[in-house]
Formats: sequence, structure tokens, C-alpha cells
Amino acid sequence: MVKTALLYNPKIREYSFGKGHPFTSERFEIFLKFIKKKLPNFKSFFGEITPPTTSSKDLELFHVKEYIEIMVKASKGTILPNIFKYTTVDNLDPETGYLPEGIEEAARMVVGSSILAGELVLKGKPSTRAKLGAGLVPHRNKVSGTGFKKAISLGGGLHHAKSEKGEGFCIYNDVVICAKKLLKEGVNKILILDTDAHAGNGTSEAFWEDNRVLFIDIHQDPRTLYPGTGFLEEIGKGKGEGFTVNIPLPMGASDDAYQYVFEKIIFPLAEEFRPKIIIRNGGSDPYFNDGLTNLGLTIDGFKMIGENVRKLADKVSQGKEVDLIASGYNKEILPFAWAALIAGLLNLNIELKDPDKSLAPSKNSGLEETKEIVEELKKILRNYWRCFQ
Ligand SMILES: [Zn+2]
Repeated sequence: MVKTALLYNPKIREYSFGKGHPFTSERFEIFLKFIKKKLPNFKSFFGEITPPTTSSKDLELFHVKEYIEIMVKASKGTILPNIFKYTTVDNLDPETGYLPEGIEEAARMVVGSSILAGELVLKGKPSTRAKLGAGLVPHRNKVSGTGFKKAISLGGGLHHAKSEKGEGFCIYNDVVICAKKLLKEGVNKILILDTDAHAGNGTSEAFWEDNRVLFIDIHQDPRTLYPGTGFLEEIGKGKGEGFTVNIPLPMGASDDAYQYVFEKIIFPLAEEFRPKIIIRNGGSDPYFNDGLTNLGLTIDGFKMIGENVRKLADKVSQGKEVDLIASGYNKEILPFAWAALIAGLLNLNIELKDPDKSLAPSKNSGLEETKEIVEELKKILRNYWRCFQ
């Protein structure tokens, strides 16, 4: 059986913004414990890998040198008077007002993990360099090392980081760097599917003028949520015009609304584009009771997203998919939703139910509005894609 690579470096524990901040990193180990308990034969499905860190050279595939140097300094406890040129306040420890110590190194680990996830999916195994000691350590049980079609990078999906500035709890954009590494390897068609509740503004910036990457971003209406971008009309520029696709959903958008978007937009576009690899990013924050957002997915909805991504990958990219997962602000829900995404993605039989569904929106909440949004989007995109003509 082909195993899925599950990448987690315990040093990512340092990717934490401190007490009172919504993003803290105990999430990763809570999740691992949860899924291992829910899936007694865990080891027959997953090859656990401890990924290496990454070099500044790889970070520079997207980020400017000056920004990287400032992050290194700031994360060593140095007080920088011009720090707000490089980061928004949401990337600082709310108690101290500084960048948490050690977080830059952890952010590098996240990027290293997502780069390796891309490499494993592309080649089925790690490259010689990785094997020879860039830090690749098979985790406890032996990793067969060949035949990976899917890889999950825990901690990945930091889609708000821009080339010169960090924001939205994101320091380095591993989604972008993973894709840029694959482009360098000659993979000339990549689909990035961003299912996080927030629009991926950093990723959008990176591929705005690039037709080798189709960026489909499904998120809460930017009029009602950070970062305030990701409107229907934002479709890219120059060669990349038509290759950025934003699907802003109304507040409360339910499982049915998401399913509708997969059927009417995501599948037709991906089938026409025919990517060689799919990169999906996003954790549990579209959950109806996330706390930080206002969408309407239930646990079944997360499983449905995973299932759709699996079917899509089987159809268009020979099953090759990289999964980047980190977000989610309701800590009780997070392990359930992440496990549901992964269960759908890998067709695993895991018993998962919403702990409390009493406040969930109706099954078709937001569907009618979503249908209108889909029609409008098809009109905008019909000059670029045959499937919408
Ligand atoms: Zn988010």
C-alpha cells in the first residue's frame, strides 16, 4: 500500500506567538495524539518524517533578503525601531510586543517541511541531498522512502506572508516557496487550492502575473474578514490574467455551498488546466464555530473537502497532492476538522462527529448567494477558460 508522508518537525513547537495570541503551537501534538488514537493502524497509512530546515537561499525564492535578515535579528530578542515596516502587530507576542524568540527558526522549519513535502510528491522519495544529511530523519518506524503520492506538512500554509512583510500570523510563505521550488524542478503546471477561511493574499501576490500556477482561493467574503482582499474581480495580471481565481463566500456558507463551488468552479477549472501537482492549504478555520471567522462548515464538510481534493487529484494529477495544514482557532474543534480533512483526502475510515452541532447553520446556508457568486465568477472567467464559455 502506498503510504502518505506525514511531515512534522517538533521544533515547529517554537512557532507560537505567546499567551493570549490565537495562534499557539500545541495544536500539532494535540492533533497527532488525536489521530493516532482514532486510527489504531495509523502506521500502515502514514510514513512519519522529521523534515529539515531550509536555507536563506530558498527563502529568497520569494522573500527579499532584507526582510529575512530583519526577521533573524528580531527573533533573537533584538529591539528594532522600524519593526512595523516588516511586520504587522498580529505577528508579535501580545504580552511583550516583540517577535517571539526563536520563531524565525521555527518559521524556517515550516518552509523546510513544505519544500520536502513537494519533493516527496514529485519524486516519490527524498532526493539524495536530503538523504545524506540535510536533517531528514525517518521518524521511529521505517519510512519505505518510495512511492509517496501525497504528503502532509503539519504547520504549513502560511499564506499571508508577503515578500517584504509578515502578517496574519505568517512569517515566511511556505505555500509560495513550495510551489517555486517545484517550478524550478520543471513542474510547469501547479494548482494551489487555498481552502483557509481567509484569503491567501501573500500567495496571490506571488503568482499574480504567472500562468504556470493556477491559484484558486475559496474564503469568507473579504468585506467581512481579514485580509480584506480576494474579491471576484481579482484575477491576476499580464500573463497571469485569469489564473488567479477568488471565490468569496457569504458568512455562514455551509457544506452544501462548498460542495457547489467544487462542482461548478474547482473541478471544471482544474480539469481544463491539468496541473501536474496540487497544493492545498488551510486548516480548520472555516468551521462554523471557529471563533475568529464566520463561515459555516461542519466536520462532514471538512471530510467532503478532503474527498473532493482526492478525487480531483486522481483525475488530473495522478493522485499527486501536497497538503499544508496549520490554521484553526477553536482548539476543541481543530483536531476533529484536521482529521476529517485528512480522512477525506486519504479515504480513511475514521469516526468523527461535531462535538456540539447545536449552533451549526442549516445544511444549505448561503447556498443561494453562492450560486449567484458562481454565476458572476463564470462570467468574469469566460474569456480565459473554455469550460465557462
Ligand atoms: Zn485562516
